[in-house]
Amino acid sequence: MQKENILELRNITKTFGDFVAVDSVDFELQAGEIHAILGENGAGKSTLMNLIYGLYQPSDGRIYVTDREGWRRRLRAKSPRDAIVSGIGMVHQHFMLVESLTVAENIALSLGQVRRGSAGNPSENGAYKKALGKFRFKKEDAIHITEALSEQFGLTVDPGALVRTLSVGLKQRVEILKALAVDARILILDEPTAVLSPQEVEGFFTILRKLQADGRAIIFISHKMKEVLNISDRITVLRRGKKVYLGPTGELTARGLAREMIGEEINEVERSVWVGLPNPYESDPPDSVLQLSNLTVLGSRNEIAVSDISMATRRGEIVGIAGVDGNGQRELAEAIMGLRHSESGTVNILGTDPKGTKAVRQRGVGYIPEDRQTTGVIASFSVTENLLLNVTHLENTARWNVLNQRRKQNTAEQLIADYDIRPPIGGIPAAALSGGNQQKIVLAREISLHPDLLIAVNPTRGLDVNAARYVHENLLAQRNQSKSVLLISTELDEVLLLSDRLFVMSRGKLIEATAQRNDIEALGLLMTGQTHKDFGGNGC
Ligand code: ADP
Ligand code: MG
Repeated sequence: MQKENILELRNITKTFGDFVAVDSVDFELQAGEIHAILGENGAGKSTLMNLIYGLYQPSDGRIYVTDREGWRRRLRAKSPRDAIVSGIGMVHQHFMLVESLTVAENIALSLGQVRRGSAGNPSENGAYKKALGKFRFKKEDAIHITEALSEQFGLTVDPGALVRTLSVGLKQRVEILKALAVDARILILDEPTAVLSPQEVEGFFTILRKLQADGRAIIFISHKMKEVLNISDRITVLRRGKKVYLGPTGELTARGLAREMIGEEINEVERSVWVGLPNPYESDPPDSVLQLSNLTVLGSRNEIAVSDISMATRRGEIVGIAGVDGNGQRELAEAIMGLRHSESGTVNILGTDPKGTKAVRQRGVGYIPEDRQTTGVIASFSVTENLLLNVTHLENTARWNVLNQRRKQNTAEQLIADYDIRPPIGGIPAAALSGGNQQKIVLAREISLHPDLLIAVNPTRGLDVNAARYVHENLLAQRNQSKSVLLISTELDEVLLLSDRLFVMSRGKLIEATAQRNDIEALGLLMTGQTHKDFGGNGC
């Protein structure tokens, strides 16, 4: 039976500068369904949802919504308030709660927002109609609404508790309650299970089923295959901003979905053309550059982010670590760089055990951090100063002492030209440049020193095609000069293209997957948290 669509996206495109994040996407949400959106990191899932929720406006295309009175009309949401008034609620990857207020106060805030924004009463029915009809919300009303909704959907939480004191799982409940309090009939949940433990996920799914039974439609975003197969009625797969698949859950197996998610653009032939030179390590005895032994690192919530990892990188190779965001990659890179304390195990660089990030850098390590805009550049410093930051750090080493001011200037100008940093003016503050150009500063600075070991985390994220290609060429040049590169990236294509040896990082564990490099489906499954044995691996 064809159900009624309550939300329709027609040919939606969203560009950021030259970058197309969402590309001519059609999407339909049926009344009462749980519709999963599956896609790798960067596929455009969050952007698409932010377009529906009014946080972004589409560059092209139209959105239609069936309003509370049952009329299909065009949605032109200029802000989330417009979306909320149309019955759309969203729970973001990063919560949007006021930490210093109580649960009930947060819910009152959200109710107040809608009242100010809507022409009339947004709710036609429900336990909280009476409260909504009032001119001002009293705290008791918010408490009453919270309690009624908590009970109806099993979203148990203490209305009087300060949000700051709640666990992540409970904060998520408050976000859902906020959406329900304004009677959202379309709920967008952006990677809701990413912050939950396996036990919490069970309870969370029970809540989702109650919401569905109550007639609400849910968009469930995830890159975890098992969850999607478990909870959804239909699945849409996005890849690089495009919709590549839509079908009922069960039509495709996990392998088939992984293939849709990841595509199969890269093959060995293309790779050998790229790399050009033979791997020097095949003729020379390999030298270990980075040696990790039983490394365990805690994350910022004191969870185990990196779990007992042992591996080595050698001269003349790029070691790639693939995986979806949030599986310990950031913590691993930070621990190697001396930016994060290791709980146990060792990080050995060229036979030494440097303490602190300065010592690590002086040992000859370059670092392209994940979060370049906040940790990569100093916004108030000029472009030139940023480009020469390492030179300044290393001033007391003989190598840089000989550089006079003029030569530094020339170095900076050369880097600006090589990396096509725009505008090509060394004297302006880095803050004046676009994000992509700020990234180029970091890349230029870190790569140009030709460090013995280069740690690159998502080095091409947000770059245009030409800039990304230039970075790839430089990483390969490092390798071909017998340097060692550790490439940590959520772009599987990039890791496959560049890596001599391949690992997948999932839930803090590192799994060698060099033998699976041509089996996209197997890699996809490893990345979505399944082990070789879960899918009867390929000779491993
Ligand atoms: P997903 O949620 O599927 O991981 P996103 O929608 O967050 O993906 O991002 C899709 C792509 O758009 C990524 O390459 C990301 O870097 C880019 N992107 C997202 N938001 C912005 C923005 N505000 N400016 C520039 N690029 C962006
Ligand atoms: Mg996202």
